[in-house]
Amino acid sequence: MALKIPPGARITVDNLVRELEVSQTPIREALGRLEGEGLVVKTHLVGYSAAPQITRARFEELYDLRLLLEPEMAGRAASSMTEPALKALTGAAGVNLRGGGTDERARYPQFARQDAIFHDMILEIGGNGLVRETLAHQHTHFHIFRLMFHALVTEEALDEHEALLAAFAARDVDAARHAMRAHLERSRDRLSPAFDQ
Ligand SMILES: [Zn+2]
Repeated sequence: MALKIPPGARITVDNLVRELEVSQTPIREALGRLEGEGLVVKTHLVGYSAAPQITRARFEELYDLRLLLEPEMAGRAASSMTEPALKALTGAAGVNLRGGGTDERARYPQFARQDAIFHDMILEIGGNGLVRETLAHQHTHFHIFRLMFHALVTEEALDEHEALLAAFAARDVDAARHAMRAHLERSRDRLSPAFDQ
């Protein structure tokens, strides 16, 4: 996720054994887990490599899927919002990452992780475990992070997260749906130019 291993680059177990000074077993277990998360690909007779960059078509499909599911889940989360859940969401929204004059590029990996937690929490409160699992497996944020070196992404996305929090605080179902839809559409539009380079 830090792009130290470029997309598509081969990953050899022997090199990792030397580099990390552990035996093959934990390395293979770790690679198996990363494969399950879609971050590593195992090819017959070739071995492991870092997942390739996603295609534009897959990118569009991922956002299509998110737009079908997440606004509805945000609405449900708003209708069943409790004070503890709202507090947890506020903590997870990443608003603490705002400002400070730090390098946007350095902050992005942190934001990407935080953003994934925030969205997952909304799905959890939304109450449909299958939807939550389905989207967790897509790992949209993680994949897209690799495309993304956009300076404004953090601040803009945080504004959108705040709009979501306001809708949740008001238990406003329609506002939550709209805020999530707008956030995902803007997020998609911020990221898609990466394919034009
Ligand atoms: Zn977000």
